[in-house]
Amino acid sequence: SNDLRGNSPASRDIANHMHPYTNPAVLADSGPHIMAKGSGVFVHDDAGNQFYEGMSGLWCASLGFSEPELVDAAIAQFHKLPFYHSFAGKTVGPAIDLAEMLIAHAPPARHDSKMGKVFFASSGSEANDTAIKMVWYYQAARGMPQKQKIISRKKGYHGVTMAAASMTALAYAQDGFGLPLDFVKHTTSPDYYNNALDGESEEDFASRCAAELEEMILAEGPDTVAALFAEPVMGAGGVIIPPTGYFAKIRTILDKYDVLLVADEVICGFGRTGNMWGSQSMDVQPDMLTCAKALSSAYLPISAVLMSDKVYETLAEQAEKLGIFGHGYTYSAHPVCAAVALRAQQLMQERDIIGHVRQLAPAFSDRVARFDRFDFIGNTRSIGMIGAMEFSADPATRQKFDPQHKIAAQLVAKIQEKGVILRALPGDIIGFCPPLIMTEGELHDMFDRIEAAVGEFANTANSLRKFNI
Ligand code: PLP
Repeated sequence: SNDLRGNSPASRDIANHMHPYTNPAVLADSGPHIMAKGSGVFVHDDAGNQFYEGMSGLWCASLGFSEPELVDAAIAQFHKLPFYHSFAGKTVGPAIDLAEMLIAHAPPARHDSKMGKVFFASSGSEANDTAIKMVWYYQAARGMPQKQKIISRKKGYHGVTMAAASMTALAYAQDGFGLPLDFVKHTTSPDYYNNALDGESEEDFASRCAAELEEMILAEGPDTVAALFAEPVMGAGGVIIPPTGYFAKIRTILDKYDVLLVADEVICGFGRTGNMWGSQSMDVQPDMLTCAKALSSAYLPISAVLMSDKVYETLAEQAEKLGIFGHGYTYSAHPVCAAVALRAQQLMQERDIIGHVRQLAPAFSDRVARFDRFDFIGNTRSIGMIGAMEFSADPATRQKFDPQHKIAAQLVAKIQEKGVILRALPGDIIGFCPPLIMTEGELHDMFDRIEAAVGEFANTANSLRKFNI
């Protein structure tokens, strides 16, 4: 892919294609990395190099990169009915089946209610924007149109559309855009490793997170705060696993001030954390949840918003008064996307993928924890089949490397040379999120390669530490 001369695919790409989340100058210099083929947990580039996809692409291709059942499901639906919509009471068979499947496997909702209805969209961002509009509609329907502010957490990732990007509390998604929009407020991240005070226990830290959320709600005015959006385990912000008891304390505060909880399950949903939903792993009962990515193992774009019966009934009454629920996308419940998602979820059940994740989780957690022995790695963590290692120039004081060294990005490049694709996350963190179908043998081989790269990188890292200490 690095042939940038003449009419090569790489030079044509540079000439014409503006890439998402890419530095254009770096792309122009190094060229794109062109992927050509998938096989199981591997992708192969156009030069024939094979890589473990240690991030399932973008935390999404849970069933790997060559599942023929999903291809067959798409083709069968393409032949039957390639498109129809769900506006004005129309719909398609796969949407009916998928909605039923999602409701049957939904986590319990708040106040012992159940998740009773699904709304479909195409991406995680769209699902979150939809959920924000539903929250506003819900609060207005209850006679509280001023209850509109949305709280998300620092380091949260919720997507890139206007409202979702405003909730995404990471500088890279907001700088240059004039975001966040002012109805979004960002509260404390449940990042114990970085945010705990000296000597603060996990429980005290969780209590402080809840207290700071309460302070924010009181400062803004409880009658103006509509909902908290939260990933059960934060993904793109650095694989941040909240301390035990965190969500119970948060939920007490939300209940006290009549604030909804929307769980962003876009990464956590469908087995990633060892349960169907991250909300179950965190023992929290949301009012609504958003999901995408592994819903279709990412083979086609589809996302969903699930809502409790209580939320749905309020929305439905308001829509009846107004004559319509005035929201929907051309591709909401697209038949081919729904057919593929339905098949993906059936395969999850038939192959007991969640059982497999639980079986593999101890080995996964062991292999992640082994990086602790490197003295430039300050913290490692994992749950189910998602994890991370975080670099520190001085683990004793949790001091960061100077960001200009781009230590995680450098190491990601070295790891890629060993045949594993990973991603650097902000704050010098490298995440692990391989396809859930990975075998134990593949898991060890992948981590052996990563460990070899980290070992070879130790001299560089240790020389860079000196600039910090
Ligand atoms: N929410 C979470 C937790 C995510 O990780 C992502 C994407 O990574 C999104 C939302 C946005 O999804 P999309 O990129 O499909 O819009």
